[in-house]
Amino acid sequence: MSDAAPAALAGSADAESSAARDLQQLLMESGHERPEGHTCPICFDLIELPMDKHSKINVCCMKRVCNGCILAARRRGMNDRCPFCRTPLPADSAAQLALVQKRVSKGDADAITYLSEQYYKGRLGLAKDLPRAIELWTEAAGLGSVNAHYELGLTYYCGDGAEEDKPRGIHHWQQAAMKGDVESRHMLGVAEYRNGNYELASQHWMISTKMGFEKSLNAIKEMFKRGQVTKAQYAEALLGYRDAVEEMKSPQREEAKRLGRPPCRALMGGTRIATLEWAAAAGPGGAQDGRFEAAVYDISRIRSTDNCGDRDHEVLHLKRESREARNGRGQKLEVPVGSGVLPNRPLEAFGDFH
Ligand SMILES: [Zn+2]
Ligand SMILES: [Zn+2]
Repeated sequence: MSDAAPAALAGSADAESSAARDLQQLLMESGHERPEGHTCPICFDLIELPMDKHSKINVCCMKRVCNGCILAARRRGMNDRCPFCRTPLPADSAAQLALVQKRVSKGDADAITYLSEQYYKGRLGLAKDLPRAIELWTEAAGLGSVNAHYELGLTYYCGDGAEEDKPRGIHHWQQAAMKGDVESRHMLGVAEYRNGNYELASQHWMISTKMGFEKSLNAIKEMFKRGQVTKAQYAEALLGYRDAVEEMKSPQREEAKRLGRPPCRALMGGTRIATLEWAAAAGPGGAQDGRFEAAVYDISRIRSTDNCGDRDHEVLHLKRESREARNGRGQKLEVPVGSGVLPNRPLEAFGDFH
């Protein structure tokens, strides 16, 4: 470092641009492998993207288990326990929150991130509290949570819950991307593209595409159409994406996809549901959610469910008798009509939902 000091004195602008170049180089060279928490702890395969759709977190152990392994556990008759640690699943939100808080008190970064999300969305009986969510994400990011860095990136870059501070948001995405967080990498591409830095944008998106992120592949495809990347680059992206996706597949996971998402705990246990979270059809910006008060309804009307990840988005596809409604953003949603009582027994297999 002593050699660098005179250079810094000679011209701080030079030093600054050289530091920026070093950071860019480090950014592009690191984070090509996904972090440990993005691997299913049962089958050891990387979880398909988006992870919320293809896996579920249980708060007992904060392990994210892939849908393939959840299906296998259900088939072995394990309906009411965590497929990883075998702890009985919490009966309600209060019990779930107690499990989360127990882990939070021990300084578990994943649990802190999970709790932040509940404050952000006002779930598990907590009042919506953005400042608290940001405080917890900051704590979790300090403990090394890549997911917390990603969320803080959104918070500051978009000014969602805090004053907009784009460099600060980008800094958080950089931290996560260098540890292999695909969504943060994708957002770095978005930020560069918006600044007109097409070369850097395509480099970021090439990395996340090769890690199996479809949104990045689509972004490169769009750049190709606009003449901003070459045909060879687009071909490289297509092949890289295909390989990454192939690697994450397994017969068990394919079967889980064919059968549909496992129903969430509330449906499994026969709990009466007064409030349902609905995710509208995902647009280019991702799923948007809205909240509806809904009567307890007849489970026999449900054709399939999906996207019941740790964010608790649940899309219920109904067999018949549904009507249209719109959420606060004016998007069309499917809302059940009529009511019924959920069976007071666990459902046996995914097949019940078809
Ligand atoms: Zn698995
Ligand atoms: Zn567990």
